[in-house]
Amino acid sequence: MSFNPLVIREDFPIFSRTIRDGKRLVYLDSGATSQKPQVVIDAEVDFYRLHNAAVHRGAHQLAEEATDLFEGARLKIARFLGAEVDEVIFTKGATESLNLIAYAMGNAASGNRFHLKAGDRILVSQMEHHANLIPWQQLAARTGAELVWFDVTPEGRLDLSQIPTLITASTKVVALTHQSNVLGTINPLDEIVKAAHNVGAVVVLDACQSVPHMSVDVKKFGIDFLAFSGHKAVGPTGVGIMWGRRELLEELPPFLTGGSMIADVTMTSATWAPAPAKFESGVPNMAQVIGLGVAVDYLSAIGMDSIAAHEHVLTSDLLTKLLSVEEIKVVGPHTMDSRGGALSFTVEGIHPHDLGQFLDSQGIAVRTGHHCAWPLTRSLGVPATTRASLYLYNTIEDNDALMTGIHSAMKYFRQ
Ligand code: PLP
Repeated sequence: MSFNPLVIREDFPIFSRTIRDGKRLVYLDSGATSQKPQVVIDAEVDFYRLHNAAVHRGAHQLAEEATDLFEGARLKIARFLGAEVDEVIFTKGATESLNLIAYAMGNAASGNRFHLKAGDRILVSQMEHHANLIPWQQLAARTGAELVWFDVTPEGRLDLSQIPTLITASTKVVALTHQSNVLGTINPLDEIVKAAHNVGAVVVLDACQSVPHMSVDVKKFGIDFLAFSGHKAVGPTGVGIMWGRRELLEELPPFLTGGSMIADVTMTSATWAPAPAKFESGVPNMAQVIGLGVAVDYLSAIGMDSIAAHEHVLTSDLLTKLLSVEEIKVVGPHTMDSRGGALSFTVEGIHPHDLGQFLDSQGIAVRTGHHCAWPLTRSLGVPATTRASLYLYNTIEDNDALMTGIHSAMKYFRQ
């Protein structure tokens, strides 16, 4: 089946509404959250209408149906990521997944491979979203480990020349974004993963901006942990994935404790169930998990390679158009080499918030601000940027609407 964004748009009920007094909705904010196809909305509603019961507990038909749907979603997501089914942990979102890993490492006792102490290093980068920075800052503060980071080059890439000085025998964790939510840069994994594993460090990949947009195979990447959010991948809010290699999950202590995650409990102690249960205490976000299973089915049926190819064409088109205007400065790579569809820019003489508001008046939804990457924004020497982020349902017409909107804003704010 050939890829047609106009046909895809029909699957998303939101595109049948208008915005700002009858204008066509130009949604260029999928980096913040994606829109949802009807099948995902139906899956959540059907769960509550027809199957609602607590999974893994009740001895009745509804509980059985709910459990089958819930575990069926785990299997779909495992296949989607090239993972083993018991390596897929459901969380509330990527932020929780990354906190889970960092807090669990902080709970590791001496002798456990995840135990960190003064003299150990945690490596991040200057382009991290706060969700993949602050949990590591906190872990460093709790354990005495040192937080170090890759700088970002003026072109918006990681400075790989720092690998030998940053990845040393003291490095225990390398936590990196796969694709920057601000710059659109897709980071090279091979060299970093190899250097990390050579010194025995684990690699945690923040795949929030890559899993929705390209084929991601955890085994091929050779990474150790991965996090993403369902809501950026046409799935529901309130569900995310923490994936970890099985042998690492066995050694990683739990984060949240309580019901469902135990093997045995006495009045003074408890032992843990194996993963994934060890990391999923309490009644989980069942409807959202089931919705995410349907979301990955939806993306898989279209094909992640087709989605990536479509976004490549759209990104290249918008990048060329933005770069052709002298007053616009694009932050992040100016070529399509290892670059995804998050395009952040400034327009001379217009504050990004004013631009965002003006574009909104034209029915164009973009994001403005520091995009939860304050250290990166500061390093770029700007107070904020405007970001257009593209997805499978966007079209060249959307890009043109954005360019027309920017030109109108330039006239409006300069008159
Ligand atoms: N990491 C990256 C690169 C992101 O873009 C985001 C969300 O914007 C997150 C982490 C956090 O995701 P969530 O807010 O869904 O937990």
